[in-house]
Amino acid sequence: MQKITVKPGAKLVDYKAYGSLYSSVLDFTDQSKEPIESLKGRTIWMINSTAIGGGVAEMLPSQMRILRELGVSIEWLVIEAKKDAFFDLTKRIHNAIHGSGNGIFTEEDRKIYEEVNQNNLSKALELINDGDIVVVHDPQPMPLAAMIKKKKNVSIIWRCHIGLEDDTDVTDAVWKFLEPYTNDYDHFVFSLPSYVPNPLKNRTSIIPPAIDPLSHKNRELQLHKCIGILYQSGILDDHKAILYHRYKHLVRRVMPDGSFDVLDAGKNLDLIYRPIVTEISRWDRLKGFKELMEAFIKMKVDNRKNGDPKSLEYKRIEMTLLVLGGPDPAFVSDDPEGKEVLKELTETYKTVDKDMQNDIAILLLPLDNPKENALIVNALQRSSSIIVQNSIQEGFGLTATEAMWKRKPVLVSNAAGLKYQVVDNKTGKINQDPTDIENLSKTLAYMLNHPKERDKWGFNGQLRVIQNFTLFSQLLSWLGTLSTNKA
Ligand code: UDP
Repeated sequence: MQKITVKPGAKLVDYKAYGSLYSSVLDFTDQSKEPIESLKGRTIWMINSTAIGGGVAEMLPSQMRILRELGVSIEWLVIEAKKDAFFDLTKRIHNAIHGSGNGIFTEEDRKIYEEVNQNNLSKALELINDGDIVVVHDPQPMPLAAMIKKKKNVSIIWRCHIGLEDDTDVTDAVWKFLEPYTNDYDHFVFSLPSYVPNPLKNRTSIIPPAIDPLSHKNRELQLHKCIGILYQSGILDDHKAILYHRYKHLVRRVMPDGSFDVLDAGKNLDLIYRPIVTEISRWDRLKGFKELMEAFIKMKVDNRKNGDPKSLEYKRIEMTLLVLGGPDPAFVSDDPEGKEVLKELTETYKTVDKDMQNDIAILLLPLDNPKENALIVNALQRSSSIIVQNSIQEGFGLTATEAMWKRKPVLVSNAAGLKYQVVDNKTGKINQDPTDIENLSKTLAYMLNHPKERDKWGFNGQLRVIQNFTLFSQLLSWLGTLSTNKA
């Protein structure tokens, strides 16, 4: 068991200085007073299984910094587990909660699960006191809090970051396997109402995942910084020159007076530079990259065949660039599927003509360097006209929230999480079937050719994120849950 130190970072005043967040910080400071007061004298213990990588490790430090600034005592513990068999099992539990796998869990599995958690118990008992609140993230440390509760008067909450909308035999089996522990928990937190399994329904709060608006991935980047990051990172390869030209041109046009406001460039802005359509995800078949590439190719081919070369619409589609970004497999050694998916995409790419190839960029991002990766994702999202998340399945697509925060219109599939995040025709478009190439290509063309709607959807999207999916809305929900579930 390891106690993780959280480095200093952004403070409330930094968020407040950020125009669009000003009022949510004020609301948060005001509304958090009462629950924080009621938590005085208790420590909140966050427990998970890794200090780096993954959403929990990404969000916890910013949450903890803000809560500590307001006087909450909150700590982060990571369990130690040296056994491969343990992580194989917890991965199977994870997959089963998603509905995949055979749903078979044996007594031997239970032995491994409990043994690793038991090995972390004595250290936990040294640190945790009566009256504290223990929040366990995801399945790995689930038995641990149940063991702590047998020895101390604490309340225990399980935060599940995954889920499946419909119950299946496999999900039923995994919830049955977890029942000896869930029975001991006081409360549960899921990301969406539809993910909550029946037996836990009356002991659950819903808290959707959120983003930190001041993280490297989300903080404001002025246009010249975006250019610098994309250009210097060299990831744009053949497209580098086009993009550089695009920005040089834009810079000359837009910034004679030192202003970087892209939207001031005039109504034909899309013709000044190349519109970019971007999807950034892990190379996973369920992310719908291949379908998106096919739809993009179809849109271009149809445009060449049926469009009027003199029209603005024709030129706009002709100039559009597709960017597909994901982790460089060289740094993701444990993901053979990623390599295969990338190979399939490259093969489709090779079948199209040179002109079309010039309009498609497959980018490999440096996931081994989290800060550089975050800044590149940030710059790519900010340089795009439309962000797509064409997932065939999606628990909750952080990429869509990140894009909306950056005022980008999004085109998403109707996967469970995405249709909850995006409001159709208000913050973007929800496409009913991510595998329907024809429809996807039409929606893309429609969005490209309606720049005013795109601006409006981007604007609405940012508001939606501020109201529902930032650190502050999330912390308020957490404070509510913690203060009503004290031992
Ligand atoms: N991401 C990244 N680099 C990549 C691919 C993805 O930083 O090469 C980030 C992306 O910005 C988002 C997260 O990984 O923050 C993916 O979260 P999401 O909920 O969209 O999908 P998941 O990977 O959890 O299925």
